[in-house]
Amino acid sequence: MYTMNDKAKHVFALIKGHLDQVIHISSVNRISDRGEKGKFVCPKCCCPMGTRLGDRRQWHFYHVNSKMPCEANIANETALHLLAKQIIAESSQIKIPAYVLDAKQDTNRNSKDQRQNEPYICREEMTFSYSLVKVEERIGKVVADMLLSTNELQLCLEIAATHFVDNDKLTKIKANDISTLEIDVSSFLRKENFKEKEFKKFLLEETEGKKWVYHRREKIFLQELIARNVRYQKNFQERILNVKKIYSPLAERKKATPIYSQTTGLYRKIGCKDGEFPPYCNVPVQHENAFVCERNKWQQSIFYEFIISNKWDKVSAIDVFVYVQKNFWNDLLRDKNNYIPQYYVDPQPDSCLGKAITEYLTKLMEYGFLEKAEVLSFFDEMKIIKRC
Ligand SMILES: [Zn+2]
Repeated sequence: MYTMNDKAKHVFALIKGHLDQVIHISSVNRISDRGEKGKFVCPKCCCPMGTRLGDRRQWHFYHVNSKMPCEANIANETALHLLAKQIIAESSQIKIPAYVLDAKQDTNRNSKDQRQNEPYICREEMTFSYSLVKVEERIGKVVADMLLSTNELQLCLEIAATHFVDNDKLTKIKANDISTLEIDVSSFLRKENFKEKEFKKFLLEETEGKKWVYHRREKIFLQELIARNVRYQKNFQERILNVKKIYSPLAERKKATPIYSQTTGLYRKIGCKDGEFPPYCNVPVQHENAFVCERNKWQQSIFYEFIISNKWDKVSAIDVFVYVQKNFWNDLLRDKNNYIPQYYVDPQPDSCLGKAITEYLTKLMEYGFLEKAEVLSFFDEMKIIKRC
């Protein structure tokens, strides 16, 4: 039985005379390869290896002669490395992951605008086709594990299980200015039953375990991200400006009366008996402690204003935020200073209140009152598609 054991064992060997042929212990023949001492060699030092295929201990290879055999982890990694290079060299296509920039890379973005916090997908994942393969290729000050090329493009691969690209190597890679992908094969070092077919699929057809360490267009991508956020910022400012136009100044806001007193009788309007709340006016949301009142009160009020009243055709979280700000601030909101200032401020998507509202609108979407969107952002307008 081949089972896992904490102490690392030699699980890979090469076949003598066919040094490019890597074999995993789980695919040796228990009968014919038992006690074999001439067929296998160590992937690291090329010394003869025997097999141990007993019942009690994990199956493994061992160095037949050497008194100071090489470390199993290192030999295993060497074998896996060799196998990975062979598989990629024999193919002409490899799946490469998307290149995505974290929005934080743009330090000038407006973090209050949710859209400016979204990651920027510079390149979608794709299949890279190559016609030329070089293995262990020296480029400048780096020896790349592999260099794949087409007529116009070049891609370096670093294959690693324990020794990943460090800062020193990264500096050299950047100096070469060739896009470089790192493939982490460590999960296959720990696999109980190594299957070459699975490993091949992982290397050529999947993106898991693959990470960009450098992309030669990364400076251009950053410029694109900055330009995107400038565009979003313009849009954000326009929306804020509209909100300021529509809603009255501070003085009028101070006069506003709390809306929940107007919702008496709402139960009847939405077809409920006294003391019963319809489920969509009593939905738990994560950030509901932005409100100081009971959940059903603020939800009924929003529901009444936007779904029942016929005043709105479309609604966005920003509209609800402004409505709440206008009507609730001196009565229903918890800790005005923490969650929402008494004075007029731009709607804040990241505030507790902003989140509570977005969550509640998402629930109304699920109940079918609002147009369905995959992800609801603070600024998305949704059609009201069902009224009570
Ligand atoms: Zn060895």
